[in-house]
Amino acid sequence: MATIFSRIIAGEIPSYKIAEDDRFFAFLDINPMAKGHALVVPKQEIDYIFDLDDSLLAGMALFAKKVAAAIQAVIPCSRVGMMVIGLEVPHAHIHLIPIQKEGDMSLANPRIRLSKEEFAEIAEKISSRIN
Ligand code: AMP
Repeated sequence: MATIFSRIIAGEIPSYKIAEDDRFFAFLDINPMAKGHALVVPKQEIDYIFDLDDSLLAGMALFAKKVAAAIQAVIPCSRVGMMVIGLEVPHAHIHLIPIQKEGDMSLANPRIRLSKEEFAEIAEKISSRIN
């Protein structure tokens, strides 16, 4: 069965899309740790990130770099943190999280709530800064 992220990529499930190319897809995390918290996933459905072949893994890092720059241009933050967990959804993904301090990356932090309009506006702004 397709993962929830494959279904998002296929357009079967809605998402707040930021960017895509032939190999990767970026969208906002629906349960964000901060405004602008995004996920970058490969279109190829592979569970464990270190099972990606070298070229795909390197390409994913470069795609995440572009998305991170766009997030940083839109969301006030000191930098964009990058995290991989992958225990919840078995489809490799990189979390990109705007942070001010180390503690902002803690999984123990409460997630924030945003309205549909806020999600849409953030995705649109970040998307417009992707080059
Ligand atoms: P993990 O697998 O532990 O890295 O966590 C999976 C992440 O995917 C969590 O931060 C979820 O909030 C996020 N997530 C799960 N389903 C969706 C969805 N339909 N749209 C956007 N983000 C999602």
